[in-house]
Amino acid sequence: MLKVSVAGLRAALAKTKELALDLQPEELELDSSELAVQGSIRCDGRIVNVGGQLLLEAKLRAKVKRTCARCLCDFVVESSCRVQEHYYPAAVAPRGESVLTYDSDVLDLTGPLREALLLAEPLRALCKEDCKGLCPNCGTDLNVTACDCSRQSIDPRLAALAAFTDR
Ligand SMILES: [Zn+2]
Ligand SMILES: [Zn+2]
Repeated sequence: MLKVSVAGLRAALAKTKELALDLQPEELELDSSELAVQGSIRCDGRIVNVGGQLLLEAKLRAKVKRTCARCLCDFVVESSCRVQEHYYPAAVAPRGESVLTYDSDVLDLTGPLREALLLAEPLRALCKEDCKGLCPNCGTDLNVTACDCSRQSIDPRLAALAAFTDR
């Protein structure tokens, strides 16, 4: 869990707390099966008193290991994303809506930061835009080497299926 003290922030409009944090994935309750973070997660931003509500604005950066959907290799990229969320004082939060709230002088940043990192992941990662993938016939990584399968030897139905699933 990542909790940040906002003591003193509520006293005056526009009062700001700067954030410059190096976070471990565990602090955002991320385990490696959800998101394979390599090292720490950098969080730069601020929390501002915008009159009753507190506004969280931050940029997150992390090295993340992804698996290519075409050739199945693992590769590491720098993922970055932005977060912008309002926190309402618990006592006056709109009822029946899923809004972020705070009580006393502590903000829990875990949820918004975690969500932002997970949403930044593509549904279908590619190691490079023009990854050639694996031969549907013999499994050779066509980025590395050509294989001996002639096009004619691939069952046309399988080739059509491969083209379809590759989309
Ligand atoms: Zn690939
Ligand atoms: Zn082949």
